[in-house]
Amino acid sequence: MSKTISEINKKNRKMDKLKVAVMGCTGLVGQQFIRMLNNHPFFKVQALSSSARSAGKKYGESLSWAAGGEIPEAIREMEILETSVESILKAEAKIIFSAVPTSLAENIESILRGHGLFIFSNASAHRLDEDVPILIPDVNSDHLEIVRSQLSRAKGFIITNSNCSTSGLVMVLKPLESFGIKSVSVTTFQSISGAGRRGLSAMDIAANVIPFIKNEEEKMERESKKILGKFEGSRIVERDFELNTSCCRVPVREGHLMSVVIELEEDVDVRTVENALSLFRGIPQEMKLPTAPEFPLVVRHEEDRPQPVLDVYAGSPERARGMAVTVGRIRKKGRFLNLILLVHNTIRGAAGTCILNAELALMKSFIHSDTPRDGGGQE
Ligand code: NAP
Repeated sequence: MSKTISEINKKNRKMDKLKVAVMGCTGLVGQQFIRMLNNHPFFKVQALSSSARSAGKKYGESLSWAAGGEIPEAIREMEILETSVESILKAEAKIIFSAVPTSLAENIESILRGHGLFIFSNASAHRLDEDVPILIPDVNSDHLEIVRSQLSRAKGFIITNSNCSTSGLVMVLKPLESFGIKSVSVTTFQSISGAGRRGLSAMDIAANVIPFIKNEEEKMERESKKILGKFEGSRIVERDFELNTSCCRVPVREGHLMSVVIELEEDVDVRTVENALSLFRGIPQEMKLPTAPEFPLVVRHEEDRPQPVLDVYAGSPERARGMAVTVGRIRKKGRFLNLILLVHNTIRGAAGTCILNAELALMKSFIHSDTPRDGGGQE
């Protein structure tokens, strides 16, 4: 049964906040976790982990901070652990926010789930597992139910969020579903932060565009169909529509811009589309989750917006900055709709949605602070 925000707040005032660990804390997504979890009403950072490169150092001395503002005071002096099953279990965190490379995530996330931990992951390793949701609560909060299948065989669960470009695309497609989506064609202009801290050399990307991002087009196509799919009791049935993608890397620091052409079944005018987008609200808004933006989609009417420099931090209140997707240049030719959208890749496309997922799972009572953590090994 769902709890109300005031019930949770009352409970949290009486009990300690839930202890969380951030795996991959030094990376670009890990840093957003640290920033967004600062003074979080439900969660308290208990442990931080990274590779052997940074382990053993104090957080404030281990990295070059890229998430804006200052490193939170409470975190600056914390010592970083080396990511391993043993170190994470020893930390006694209940919730794990995972921002490690996919190659590492695959194994460690499964093992930690077997030990009764609740994993919220940015890695792609488990996104297409049958009973693992790719959750964007504004779009498909009902898919959370599929974790019951994981809980029937393990004490914990894994919940993923999508590839960063996919998150922006599905948030805009969701409110247009009522007009019938026949096909979608997308060209992306993706920022360099999407490739991680050590992703691209300045020599490769400065004053350049690279018209290829490995596996990105495949991820966008498969993940969008799963997220927009229907939850049918024990499985998610992918949504069937034609989706073509071309992904490019551009010399922008933060924010993925996309040019989208949507073929609709209905012939609707631009004003109707604008209304559908700007009136769109999901479960996080209804439940007033702490990281939910008041307006998940922001429609701009200027002829030259959205722009990464001006719009990438769309979203209010303060905790939800970067959680809104901005849509502009909405045009129409017959049943073909053209628009440009912008999503913050490390916030809405990664850490922010991950935290929103954990807030939803807690509010819907999928996370119990008394769940035993030491059984382990049931994977
Ligand atoms: P990143 O900047 O390269 O950071 C990677 C993190 O993982 C760092 O903390 C790094 O620690 C740690 N790490 C690397 N190799 C490791 C190893 N062998 N053992 C333990 N820890 C290791 O990457 P990111 O952009 O933050 O992405 C993190 C994850 O989120 C990836 O799975 C990525 O695909 C996914 N994701 C990224 C974005 C985005 O926009 N960037 C969006 C959605 C999803 P050190 O600093 O010590 O090396």
